[in-house]
Amino acid sequence: MNRVYNFSAGPSMLPLPVLERAASELVCYGESGMSVMEMSHRSPDYEAIIQDAEALLRKIMNIPDNYKVLFLQGGASTQFAAVPMNLIKRTGKADYAVSGQFSGKAFKEAQKLGYDVKCIATTKDDNFDHVPTITRDMIRPDAAYLHICFNNTIYGTKYPYIPDTGDVPLVADLSSCIISEPVDVSKFGVIYAGAQKNMAPAGVTLVIVREDLLEYAEEDMPTMLEWKTMADNDSMYNTPPCYSIYMAKLVYDWIIELGGLEEMKKINEKKANLLYDYLDSQDYYIAPVKKDSRSMMNVTFVTGDADLDKKFASEASAKGLKNLKGHRSVGGMRASIYNAMPYEGVEALVAFMKEFAAANPKK
Ligand SMILES: *Cc1c(COP(=O)(O)O)cnc(C)c1O
Repeated sequence: MNRVYNFSAGPSMLPLPVLERAASELVCYGESGMSVMEMSHRSPDYEAIIQDAEALLRKIMNIPDNYKVLFLQGGASTQFAAVPMNLIKRTGKADYAVSGQFSGKAFKEAQKLGYDVKCIATTKDDNFDHVPTITRDMIRPDAAYLHICFNNTIYGTKYPYIPDTGDVPLVADLSSCIISEPVDVSKFGVIYAGAQKNMAPAGVTLVIVREDLLEYAEEDMPTMLEWKTMADNDSMYNTPPCYSIYMAKLVYDWIIELGGLEEMKKINEKKANLLYDYLDSQDYYIAPVKKDSRSMMNVTFVTGDADLDKKFASEASAKGLKNLKGHRSVGGMRASIYNAMPYEGVEALVAFMKEFAAANPKK
């Protein structure tokens, strides 16, 4: 069978050259005589893999030396609890901006743990069709941090700017836009991301944390959630998600070969522009997101008729354009066009959209 264009929001497509390389090394890695899946995480071969993964990521993201890079488990959702447990002691309270489902969950998790947290901005009343405008005066000056979700996977929105938080550390969930374009890491206190959207298979969660923020962990917090423990042990306090980290390393290699994140951004912009330009040129499909909040990774659209939406997703699927159904909470369609989606995949999608609109006039 041929490979399809998989528009899944996550787990999602991986670059074909990465999958092929993994396949070629699957049974015997290098001279080790075993698969990466079978290796001790303390073996020299594996230590080289995890060290390379970190070094390559530092290079492509231009991560400053005063930041630690951690490869953890538990998904981005585990960080919803880890963030307050590691940081709240800085001042005792924290601020959140709620721009969609995941930032809402992060806020609720901190509340559930009994912390003094405040939602300083939300676009809930507008169905999250844009991200909030955050200015310094909205943030409590004695907040331990401000938490945002940089790219909202479900709604297809992204912050077009990095909020200026002054001295308050900015903590951001970048699960669905990590390594899609250059970001100035120095503007963040903490960046975290589940890998399965744009970086690797599920199983590894990336945390990039400024060193001075490692000093505020709750004394009685679970060891496995404490960033400092993980940082002091080079992400090997216990067994790391070895194979997913290896896959992440192959993805980083692939990005470097492409020319780094500047080049990656150009490719991603070209794909997103093709789709948004088409959406803007017609009135059969509606793109609900306000233009200045549009995500380059997750593009949402509807026909305005739930039955047509359903028909669209199923006919697209039959043509090898998979997983275009929107998130169950919002309906409509969503095309996730992460790094690994080739330009040709978006071309095929736009061609299908035109065909479908012509064949299914609205009443
Ligand atoms: C998918 C996603 C999550 C949840 O990630 P898990 O790894 O499944 O916990 C959190 N935040 C964002 C922005 C996501 O896209």
